[in-house]
Amino acid sequence: MSTPRQHIVVMKFGGTSVEDAAAISRTASIVAGRLRKGLNPIVVVSAMSKVTDTLLAAAAAAGRNQREEALKLSDALRTRHLTTAAELVTDADRLTSLQLNIHHDFDTLDDLLRGISAVGELTPRTSDHVVSFGERLSSLIVSAAFAQKNIHSAHVDARTVILTDAHYGKATPNERAIEAALTSQVLPLIDTGKVPVMGGFIGSCDGITTTLGRGGSDYTAALVGGALHTGAIEIWTDVNGIMTTDPRIVPEALRVKTISFEEAAELAYFGAKVLHPATILPAVQKNIPVFVLNSRNAENEGTKITATPPPCKTPFKSIAAKKRLTIIDIVASRMLLAHGFLAAVFDVFDKHHCAIDMVSTSEISVSVTVDSREALPAISADLSKIADVKFEGNKALICLVGEDIRGQSGIAGQVFSAISHINVRMISQGASEINMSFMINEEDVEEAVRSLHKKFFSSPDASIFDVEASAVTSTI
Ligand code: ADP
Ligand code: ASP
Ligand code: MG
Repeated sequence: MSTPRQHIVVMKFGGTSVEDAAAISRTASIVAGRLRKGLNPIVVVSAMSKVTDTLLAAAAAAGRNQREEALKLSDALRTRHLTTAAELVTDADRLTSLQLNIHHDFDTLDDLLRGISAVGELTPRTSDHVVSFGERLSSLIVSAAFAQKNIHSAHVDARTVILTDAHYGKATPNERAIEAALTSQVLPLIDTGKVPVMGGFIGSCDGITTTLGRGGSDYTAALVGGALHTGAIEIWTDVNGIMTTDPRIVPEALRVKTISFEEAAELAYFGAKVLHPATILPAVQKNIPVFVLNSRNAENEGTKITATPPPCKTPFKSIAAKKRLTIIDIVASRMLLAHGFLAAVFDVFDKHHCAIDMVSTSEISVSVTVDSREALPAISADLSKIADVKFEGNKALICLVGEDIRGQSGIAGQVFSAISHINVRMISQGASEINMSFMINEEDVEEAVRSLHKKFFSSPDASIFDVEASAVTSTI
């Protein structure tokens, strides 16, 4: 394994950490703090908050031939970016050059939106192109704001270093090519004392823009950290770290001080939005600690994700919920088919690139849960050839995660007695033995999470949890 570059730290700032001039100023102070400690930051930023959603809405409007609507959305974004730039950058030359760049990007975006509405069709490839403007613009502004605050920043177009395949909307990174590109383009910047600033989420394939999927800036940070074998990866967001559950459901949720890579990966996969599920892998491969930190409360030590966290007295560390799932009950239409039935069923999901979250089986029937809605009609058509199929939508998966559930007897009893008033549909204790999951109706999620949180986190183990809850007002 390569030797770690302990002095380099990848710092990823999410949408709320760059949402306006005040947030970007806080971000600059946090980066300046790392520089004072003698560290070399590489900064990865998301689009300003809600910009990705607005760009997708603009692209969708254009795809429906609603050109004016699309351009109106783009105009509002242009104003927001220009206003933020003017609030942050006071040096006249620097501001003029930044404004030119912003106008140039929006002119290109508007041409693109006009083109999409002219043909009235939005392909995944064009959608990636439209949505990439969020990170391209935020990284330009953040880089200029840093320079204004005497941080020697260097803007890097992420598309020149995050090289991927051509799976638009959710491209797979080519880790070797990324390592080579970062080594030749980004390390020299660090060697000359610069702070590279790049957008997350976006990449390219043969010069065509791609994206890594929603929430993908975390993944970019992990790819950069993994490729350069940095000393740490920091995910800066709007909560104090990984909490015992989503603080929007339980405002008194506690901060988890340390968590294992496996636990964090399960949580992310099963719906904890705080981390993109793919983030952990590059870090695990090189054993790079990942920290989740609060850019609004930078003094807080956040959550450390590491290979070997200390043991914990509470069986679980956190509870995640994933909504908008569908249960599919599949019953073999003829007993004859029983042999090889499961293989045939899974082939159908494989063919439609549809990931399955949970499975329960008998000899001739199988129930699975999936979170893809788009693929359902095609899956249904294929499954109907071999089985009777029934779909149940608006389901949710609740997942309790903790290394310390291994070998604990009676734990399932405690879980289900806490939610005995809620109708539970499918249950699974993962093969990894660090999660326990079950399906419920979507409308029961809040109640189930609150009841479970009360049961397992009312008297927490102080060495693992912090009794500091974050004040969050928004609702999901
Ligand atoms: P960013 O824009 O910084 O990437 P996200 O919105 O993607 O931020 O993720 C942070 C949000 O994740 C928090 O505001 C919180 O509501 C939500 N969240 C869900 N589950 C958890 C959890 N277990 N711990 C912390 N935050 C969580
Ligand atoms: N801006 C992208 C999104 O909203 C990527 C990210 O923020 O991680 O999904
Ligand atoms: Mg995120």
